[in-house]
Amino acid sequence: MTEEAFDVVVVGSCMTDLVSQAPRLPKAGETIHGHKFFIGFGGKGANQCVQAARLGVKTAMICKVGKDFFGDNYIQNFKDNGVYTDFVWQTSDAATGAASITVNDAGENAIVIVAGANMLLGSEELQQALPAIRKAKVLVCQLEINPQISFQALQMARDNKVKTIFNPAPAIPDLDHSFYRVSDVFCCNESEAELLIGCSVNNVEEARHAAQELLKRGCGAVVITLGPQGCVVLKAQEKASTHVPANAVTAVDTTGAGDSFIGALAFYMAHHPTMPLEEMAQRANQVSGLSVQAAGTQTSFPFKKDLPAELF
Ligand code: ATP
Repeated sequence: MTEEAFDVVVVGSCMTDLVSQAPRLPKAGETIHGHKFFIGFGGKGANQCVQAARLGVKTAMICKVGKDFFGDNYIQNFKDNGVYTDFVWQTSDAATGAASITVNDAGENAIVIVAGANMLLGSEELQQALPAIRKAKVLVCQLEINPQISFQALQMARDNKVKTIFNPAPAIPDLDHSFYRVSDVFCCNESEAELLIGCSVNNVEEARHAAQELLKRGCGAVVITLGPQGCVVLKAQEKASTHVPANAVTAVDTTGAGDSFIGALAFYMAHHPTMPLEEMAQRANQVSGLSVQAAGTQTSFPFKKDLPAELF
């Protein structure tokens, strides 16, 4: 284990995506032939960590994978992206998290997710990673692992004056309000905001309203991403929210856009801690705007070299 200091530490999930493309989705009991198969690296935690690393900050991932081929493969993927892996634990008690995805020719999909080893990341591992959490500039969590572990990680970061980004995804409607109080930045998309506040969030005005409602629950700031419309930012010390528009681009695949945005936000919070949040969000829009112009999840995430120098 290390006494190294990391800019961004992510506590979260790793999933291997097993994607089959077929003319149609199979019915129960049916076997059909598909025309393409590929394996992708996913999981919200890992995606966000990889995006931050590709922008050029020192990152560490705290997670659990299986002692299996997919686990070994994922660790290699982290290494290939420059992510520190001493806090990636392997277990024989469950398989690496996996998403079996079938996509038909109309672009519709059927997905089975087995969280597997992700759910076995526990407090003991967080304690072992405490030296890294304590020295991080930014800690990022989501909800694809045991929510109690995400909460503990956020609390540990807070206790050590480390900035936190919490991405409540996948959203749970009755999310405990203590999560808001340990979030410097509470960042979600429209459907998550909708579930959390119980009102529709389909446009900028509704997102502004949702941000006000979420902020009341005790976080430092709220960012709601709005796909091609960019995002809305609301800070605790300010009464009015800011709409930060995205550039118009031709999107080919938006999978993972939210994770690219959050990874970029973590990068800016670590790299330019005094930059206004609105400016960070505007730059994160540009990073994720590039990711939607390429296919796949992590395969679409840009590297520092792909972006204009003025974004750094
Ligand atoms: P996903 O679930 O597909 O990973 P998400 O729903 O969590 O994504 P979005 O709000 O769709 O996240 O997108 C995140 C960010 O990506 C947006 O704030 C925006 O900056 C960028 N983005 C997404 N879609 C587009 C698009 N069509 N054009 C330009 N930018 C986009």
